[in-house]
Amino acid sequence: MCNTPTNTSVLLIYTGGTIGMIENAETGVLENFNFEQLQKHVPELQQSHCRIESIQFDPPIDSSDVEPEVWRKLVKAISDNYDKYNGFVILHGTDTMAYTASALSFMLEDLSKPVILTGSQLPIGVLRTDGKENLMTSIEIAAAQNKDGSPVVPEVCIFFENHLMRGNRTTKMNAENFNAFRSFNYPVLAKAGIHIKYNSSVIHQADTSKPLNPHYLLNTNIAVLKLFPGMHENVVAATLSIDGLQAVIIETYGSGNAPRRQWFLRLLREATQRGIVIVNVTQCSAGTVEMERYGTGYHLLQSGIVCGYDSTTESAVTKLMFLLGHGYAPEKVRELMGQSIAGEITIG
Ligand code: ASP
Repeated sequence: MCNTPTNTSVLLIYTGGTIGMIENAETGVLENFNFEQLQKHVPELQQSHCRIESIQFDPPIDSSDVEPEVWRKLVKAISDNYDKYNGFVILHGTDTMAYTASALSFMLEDLSKPVILTGSQLPIGVLRTDGKENLMTSIEIAAAQNKDGSPVVPEVCIFFENHLMRGNRTTKMNAENFNAFRSFNYPVLAKAGIHIKYNSSVIHQADTSKPLNPHYLLNTNIAVLKLFPGMHENVVAATLSIDGLQAVIIETYGSGNAPRRQWFLRLLREATQRGIVIVNVTQCSAGTVEMERYGTGYHLLQSGIVCGYDSTTESAVTKLMFLLGHGYAPEKVRELMGQSIAGEITIG
């Protein structure tokens, strides 16, 4: 059982996104407005059981403009305030929320408090907004404690439309509906109805004796190559010869399959030999890469390509940035891509 005691506190970090936007009367375009205006539309914030304090990005940003610098700012904000709050809620645009949640899950090593990202499909000032519900429930989850006073969900999550999901397992999969996010390969951590029902067997168990270990170094020399039938050799060759490139995610077919053409396998093999880390992630929303299942996947394995298991592309991109940011040699990066370091993949 869990509850929200009255002496809990949550830090709300407002980065921007639709949740805090307002329609420009002249152009009809949605633009950011500031946090004070946002709060006026949510008087419920004053009624919350817990103490809520906030910081905001100035100016707030549409999440399409998110860069690793934003992730560093978030890590710094959480790290600087770590001891003062029971949990953290980040208001963020939906477009790149899954990338931010994935990045934070790696950058906040040994996290033992909730970091809940949320946003909305309709601005909070609009009558039918989904923003209020998302915000109020996220705050409740960030403050929720077990009987012994430990946080119920000590990990980076996305809460959206009644579902609490592990952040590095999420993908934005709907640009229209309120249920914009899915965690295809990992069970939801909680469902919010009349009660918030936590699925404690799938929630990460934190080691509260370890202090938070924040990381700031990211290396973005990465490319994503999505396969399609008829892809030209020069497209693959040009991608793999990008100056300074250190890692490539190949979005393959089905359970990790790719064409067996000689030129394709030769280009991959040569890139691997040059020290480029190549990770195999499936284009399918659900399921895992099994490179030993078909000949078309087995050839990739023989070319030195690393299995991405059931990773989302968002998670693979940010994990590579994180590992390369540590300055690890390609062999070490390949090894760690095959291990779960923040609950981001299921092996076996
Ligand atoms: N473009 C917006 C953003 O990601 C969309 C949203 O918030 O839903 O910031």
